[in-house]
Amino acid sequence: MKVVHSLPELRLARGELPGPLGFVPTMGYLHEGHLSLVRQAKSECASVVVSIFVNPTQFGSNEDLASYPADLGRDQAVLEREAVDLIWIPTPEHMYPEGFQTWVTVEELTRPLEGEHRPGHFRGVTTVVAKLFNAVQPDRAYFGQKDAQQLAAVRRMVQDLGFRPQVVACPTMREADGLAMSSRNVGLSPEERRAAGVLYRALSAAQQVYAGGERRADALRRSMAETLQVEPLARIQYVSVADPETLAELEGEVRRGLLSMAVFVGKTRLIDNVFLGD
Ligand code: AMP
Repeated sequence: MKVVHSLPELRLARGELPGPLGFVPTMGYLHEGHLSLVRQAKSECASVVVSIFVNPTQFGSNEDLASYPADLGRDQAVLEREAVDLIWIPTPEHMYPEGFQTWVTVEELTRPLEGEHRPGHFRGVTTVVAKLFNAVQPDRAYFGQKDAQQLAAVRRMVQDLGFRPQVVACPTMREADGLAMSSRNVGLSPEERRAAGVLYRALSAAQQVYAGGERRADALRRSMAETLQVEPLARIQYVSVADPETLAELEGEVRRGLLSMAVFVGKTRLIDNVFLGD
């Protein structure tokens, strides 16, 4: 396994790898969710590249960039065990040279949900993913369904700009109580960690209500909110029932939908989602 930092080093090492080449972009502090992407890439590709980069441009000024967890030594050991071929760990100076002023923006899709509460977030995401794709030139790129709007924005960007990789969506990996695995979970106190299970319970409650015949978007949102409100340590930022393709909020009858939410548990902001319908 090779570890590289600069763009010239990456290009050189990438050139030696056999195709098809799978790529897993991450912000590090790896967990089983990341590793499920790596394993899927390993099973479908001749070589696998993982990037680790905590991308400053996707964090708002009031967000947790400074406290985002990191453990590069452990990440490298874990990826070595997975037999990854190449790790790319750029620095902010590598990615954003002096005078940087070129951005990639996906418009409508990134306005609601996370986009509404994290202005500028997706501009940072799509710009860095475009740069990573341009450098790595993967055949396939693996993303988690956990970040559903990110996945949708990356798919749109790839289509609109005619980028090379096939985007592969991977299911959300969860802890035993349903909490979606996330690098941010390490910031939860033991009491908050227990409380954080409420997100998946709320998504499951709405799924059950739907399975029982309820189709009204309002009622589905209410079912999620009511479950969340029972947990005193949870503070709702939004609950949503959205069109799975456009991500526009649904009113009236729901046939298919993306149920999603952002919830603060203490200082930690957690997101989760599930699909509804066929
Ligand atoms: P991050 O390091 O949080 O930027 O995540 C890197 C990639 O891993 C993204 O495509 C995420 O959607 C994906 N990912 C994060 N958590 C999970 C999870 N619990 N299950 C599956 N994929 C995940």
